[in-house]
Amino acid sequence: MYSWTLPHPLTPLPLSDLSSLNPMQVNVETAAAGLPWDMDVDVLVVGAGACGLAAAIAAHEAGVGVAIVEKRDRPGGNSSLSTGSVPGANSRFQREAGIEDSPQVMVADLERLSGESDLPQLARQMAAISAEICEWLVDTVGARMALITDYCHVGHTIPRLHAPVSRRGQDLVDDLLAAVDKRGIPLATNNPVHTLYVDDQGGVVGVAVDGPGVERSRIRARNVILASNGFAANRELVTRYCAEIADAEYFGALGSQGEAVLWGQQLGARLANMQAYQGYAAVAYPHGSLLSWTTLEKGGFLVNAAGRRFGNEDLGYSAYAREVLAQRQNVFAVFDERIMTLASKEDEFRELAEIGGLKNADSIEALAARFELPADVLARTLANYNEAAAGKRGDEFGRKHFNMAPLSGRLWMCRVTPGLFHTQGGLAVDQEGRVLREDDSVIPGLFAGGGAAAGISGRAGAGGYASGNGLLTAIALGYLSARAAAAQVKART
Ligand SMILES: Cc1cc2nc3c(=O)[nH]c(=O)nc-3n(C[C@H](O)[C@H](O)[C@H](O)COP(=O)(O)OP(=O)(O)OC[C@H]3O[C@@H](n4cnc5c(N)ncnc54)[C@H](O)[C@@H]3O)c2cc1C
Repeated sequence: MYSWTLPHPLTPLPLSDLSSLNPMQVNVETAAAGLPWDMDVDVLVVGAGACGLAAAIAAHEAGVGVAIVEKRDRPGGNSSLSTGSVPGANSRFQREAGIEDSPQVMVADLERLSGESDLPQLARQMAAISAEICEWLVDTVGARMALITDYCHVGHTIPRLHAPVSRRGQDLVDDLLAAVDKRGIPLATNNPVHTLYVDDQGGVVGVAVDGPGVERSRIRARNVILASNGFAANRELVTRYCAEIADAEYFGALGSQGEAVLWGQQLGARLANMQAYQGYAAVAYPHGSLLSWTTLEKGGFLVNAAGRRFGNEDLGYSAYAREVLAQRQNVFAVFDERIMTLASKEDEFRELAEIGGLKNADSIEALAARFELPADVLARTLANYNEAAAGKRGDEFGRKHFNMAPLSGRLWMCRVTPGLFHTQGGLAVDQEGRVLREDDSVIPGLFAGGGAAAGISGRAGAGGYASGNGLLTAIALGYLSARAAAAQVKART
């Protein structure tokens, strides 16, 4: 087994230089004979989000040497901005709560939403391992997660999301980091990987860490796991592949610049599900924090500046983002005190309320005045909506699920804007996370997971995204890639 020392003096990359990390400059180079390597490792993980951290822990558990290099000045990526929700079908936690579930039901849920996929077997595989992943997070990683029983969220017919009690992805990342630290796994921040080295068969044999202010280091690795997320922070790639959401603001981490896709193109890898992404219909404006979808799922609705609803909120936060974007203006979420109390269990939601992101009033007319909306139109909208929720008329937009509505008592409102959260397209991988070429052969030495790999949300758009699809493929593919990479290393020694 190789021994690993951290890259020699790690020079921090100032955040102001991030724009100079032009992802179009990523390279694939042939490692010439006698190329001097600065260090060696069995498994090198590129990226320290949920995928990379889970992969490193799983590789360590499998008994091989592993290290992580991270581009930015701190780990976490999009994972730390998420709500940390991971689905697990037929988990021990569901059974303890008396909830019956199975991977088959989860696959049916996912496929109903996603439609066709370029990698249909991936959803089945992710559902099959989802319970094991949730239990591994709690039992082996020590993550402070619990089953959410208050709601199902988008795409799930059964409560199967497991999340930190705070609903903060940062808590999940902190727990993964603690597990990495406890195992003594080296994690080097401010180390952007720009170059993948290949041998003359096209197999990946190492990387170069390089960038403005960073001394170039060449790291030889028997296997490389790309855990560098997708391309949502790369406007050019978003416009090319996900044009319908290119005008929306991106609310994820800046590190998602699409290197995996760009390396993949140079390596002849197959790209899959490239038009799919996760949108979010209700980011609080101008605060930039997520308005919990619990407010809409549990009975709230959205209106435009004219005080009118404009679609069916049942579509869910991802699919509905495109409808909100089409309004070309801020829109407003309306819900009542009971829903406010329920959503207040979530830390980020409470903070949004504390910083004044939510306003309330005793009457819909008074609430309209607080946001300068036409009171008479908004009052009519509420009356019509409440009649539909009470079953007295059909909903004009076809909404079927009203939960706690009709709305009553004190009413609350939040101004929101739509956003792009992450892309779901990426490198085609097999059941072990091995990256595939166009002809479905495996690129030796290269694995991918999370946003770097293709997702399970169908081929196109935001409508196929079910809650937890992002973190499930991050953690599960990280885990599977690491185990397969470790098995290969052991088989060769
Ligand atoms: C606000 C928000 C809420 C969300 N909520 C949920 C949720 O509850 N459940 C869910 O399933 N999904 C959610 N998502 C999506 C989810 O966050 C992502 O799908 C998931 O975090 C992807 O994990 P990852 O490890 O692949 O990427 P990341 O967590 O982004 O980690 C990738 C890391 O790689 C680093 N990196 C990139 N390029 C390089 C390079 N060249 N060299 C070295 N390092 C590099 C990045 O800096 C980053 O730290 C949410 C997203 C957002 C924005």
